[in-house]
Amino acid sequence: MKRITIFGATGSIGQNTLDLIGRDREAYKVVALTGEQNIEKLARDAITFDAELAVTADPGRLEDLRQALSGTAVQAAAGPEALIEAASRPADWLMSSIVGSAGLAPGLKALEQGTSLALANKESMVCAGPLMLSTAKAHGASILPVDSEHSAVFQALIGEDMSAVERVIITASGGAFRDWPIENLANATPEQAATHPNWDMGQRITIDSASMFNKALELIETREFFEIEPAQIEAVVHPESMIHALVGFRDGALMAHVGPPDMRHAIGFALHYPERKTLPVERLDLVKLGQMTFRPADETRWPALRLAREVMAAGGLSGAVFNAAKERALDGFIEKRIGFQQIARVVEEVLSRVSANRGHIDAAITLDNVINIDHLARTRADEIMTEIEG
Ligand code: NDP
Ligand code: MG
Repeated sequence: MKRITIFGATGSIGQNTLDLIGRDREAYKVVALTGEQNIEKLARDAITFDAELAVTADPGRLEDLRQALSGTAVQAAAGPEALIEAASRPADWLMSSIVGSAGLAPGLKALEQGTSLALANKESMVCAGPLMLSTAKAHGASILPVDSEHSAVFQALIGEDMSAVERVIITASGGAFRDWPIENLANATPEQAATHPNWDMGQRITIDSASMFNKALELIETREFFEIEPAQIEAVVHPESMIHALVGFRDGALMAHVGPPDMRHAIGFALHYPERKTLPVERLDLVKLGQMTFRPADETRWPALRLAREVMAAGGLSGAVFNAAKERALDGFIEKRIGFQQIARVVEEVLSRVSANRGHIDAAITLDNVINIDHLARTRADEIMTEIEG
């Protein structure tokens, strides 16, 4: 029996993971499930899956969770320390699918236990890629990418030598506004941005798809995960979302990973790795699909992509600054404090203000330094949003 824990169990990736686990209950023992605000769903799934422990990240919701679990054998806990304790419990496989940099510390703790980490939380790699890889190495743990593009690249690289890789191309759907005239973007609302043409995902990543900040994070994630040069990484808009990524080799061959947009493929691949098992995903009918199209990923329309290039060039802790600034600017957009195009403006300005002190960016990539610079970037983002509002 495989012992598994799911961080962010109440979210879109967490629920897809439970869907797969639920199809073969005998094969798994659920150790812990975590969530934040969605206490009812957390308790329901913890009971259904007979988890040892359910944790809400919000200490203020502990009583609600206790009540929802009363009369059952599931333990309830809350708060950041409880998340770390859950990540330290022996498990064979842990899904890291909290949204945001809050996913970093529990993921590192799991790696320190030697637990295989299925990584949906791309923010961990963006904020602290070298720390994630060195922690995994030091404790003999593996990190399995769950982001569909990175799972695709990982799969295309099986049996290949990295020295033969010339380039990696990740695809982007283009999000909700890919066909909008640029001049209309200034008035785009959070509700409009939170609809996705192809993928069914959490609200935040869906809006990040419309702004292309999701792809920007993924460019950095590609660099950190596969340790390749920024110049070798490209993004291309592919509205059908059937090809998730391609790897180009020095003999000119391009290996593409093709399949319908269903996260259960990448989750299932990470769950069963190194085996491949039958998964409940639609089989692609190429004739029905008919055609696949591609467009340039325009950095004028999507300045997030340009900023990602700057971050990759700057290195150090700039990924953590970029991510935290984006998280706060996204809050500001959702709360209607700033407009859609001001998300990138805020992030660019935070990068410039924080990087003015090069010592900030060049500090060692440790968990403490990432947490500190994450706070600093959020504070700067708040200041800049107040300036914009004023
Ligand atoms: P959701 O918003 O659907 O779910 C987020 C999960 O994290 C929920 O369980 C939520 O709890 C929990 N959570 C939110 N804030 C905190 C916090 N501060 N501390 C602890 N837990 C918290 O997100 P997704 O499932 O869409 O995405 C999860 C991660 O996977 C992200 O990093 C995303 O970029 C990545 N990813 C997602 C894909 C997708 O298809 N959805 C595809 C590729 C990557 P609650 O809901 O109970 O409040
Ligand atoms: Mg992705």
